[in-house]
Amino acid sequence: MDHIGDEFKSGEKVPHSGIYKVVHDPHHAQEHEVTCLYEKTFPECDDCGDHVRFILIRDAQQVSSNEHFSW
Ligand SMILES: [Zn+2]
Repeated sequence: MDHIGDEFKSGEKVPHSGIYKVVHDPHHAQEHEVTCLYEKTFPECDDCGDHVRFILIRDAQQVSSNEHFSW
């Protein structure tokens, strides 16, 4: 998947549901992982604001978008 490793900023739309690595200002927090959902907006960090970056690690389709689950 060629969009693995793509980097996003606060305020941008989430292009793919999946697991993202979050990179804060070094003085604030260490890197960690979160799940972000398609078409939501990447948030600002309460501490380092829009300096935070989101890097796609792994795509994961939402079950409600999957063809095998229509309910
Ligand atoms: Zn932060």
